[in-house]
Amino acid sequence: MLVVMRHGATSAEVARVIEIVEEMGYSARPMPGAQRTAVGIVGNDGRVDASRLEALSGVAQVIHVTQPYKQVSREWRPDNTVVTIAPGVAFGGDTTPVIAGPCSVESEQQIVSAAEAVRDAGASALRGGAFKPRSSPYSFQGLGRKGLDLLALAKRETGLPIVTEAMDDDGAHQVAEVADCIQIGARNMQNYSLLKTVGRIGKPVLLKRGMAATIHDLLLSAEYILAEGNTQVILCERGVRSFDTATRNMLDLSAIPTVHLLSHLPIVADPSHGTGLRDKVGPMARAALAAGADGLLIEVHPAPDRALSDGAQSLYPEQFAALMDELRGVAAAIGREVPQHAGTARV
Ligand code: PEP
Ligand code: MN
Repeated sequence: MLVVMRHGATSAEVARVIEIVEEMGYSARPMPGAQRTAVGIVGNDGRVDASRLEALSGVAQVIHVTQPYKQVSREWRPDNTVVTIAPGVAFGGDTTPVIAGPCSVESEQQIVSAAEAVRDAGASALRGGAFKPRSSPYSFQGLGRKGLDLLALAKRETGLPIVTEAMDDDGAHQVAEVADCIQIGARNMQNYSLLKTVGRIGKPVLLKRGMAATIHDLLLSAEYILAEGNTQVILCERGVRSFDTATRNMLDLSAIPTVHLLSHLPIVADPSHGTGLRDKVGPMARAALAAGADGLLIEVHPAPDRALSDGAQSLYPEQFAALMDELRGVAAAIGREVPQHAGTARV
């Protein structure tokens, strides 16, 4: 439930609402906003008796949130949430940052050269997995802790913030030491213990849609993170399984306007896992931006033919640079901007 305050309600009136909510045995989440101030009520299993709150001075309206995902819903917060993972790298506003890099961190030479290439092309953040959720236990599983150290090195060399995946609770704490944004992969979208852990860690989270998850499931998973007090969640459409084997997954671009309608959280698109094929990445990246994606996640490898994972969908650095030029044009056409990364110097 949500208590919406009148325009110009005083801080004493807001404080009184919080006091009464707590007296009633619930938790209050004050939300000052551009359009209105509201106090969210959490900790209630069922319907809360609104009459006591409606009568308080400064209260305009009490809204029962109809969706099962509450704090994630637009009813809860009409303004877009802008998630800033590093200075100048913000998702959910006018800018559409591009996160790029290899599927996995493989070596110092590979990750530093990938980082330099994507930075020079205008990417805003570096991706690369140190902990890899592979379908086969015999496939490359990632460099683990060593991979995180190499990401930290690439960040020092290029200034790019880091987005990298955590697969379990212990890994999440390790990842949090290095990452500016913790990625939760498709296979772990419903790992509720991990979602609670990253909710408590409090760093920005990139939450990928599970390969057989509905949009409703995705939003409920995000709710686990917000319920722990972390509102810094970026959703990611990365394709769902379909009957068609022509592409690896089916990138669901309609998820972008659907999420924007239902939720205030930003959503980015991953055309690399969404298609699995290098030649499809550019067209779907352009389409995703045109559909309103708040950013993109793109796999780029200095030598895709030698990649230890996802080489077939990884762009060559030159292809990525050409695509970035096109993406700047698409963004401009819809009144948005692909930000240029500022930190080209060593930091
Ligand atoms: C990845 O980003 O490399 C990855 C494993 O993605 P997903 O979880 O979407 O399969
Ligand atoms: Mn990958």
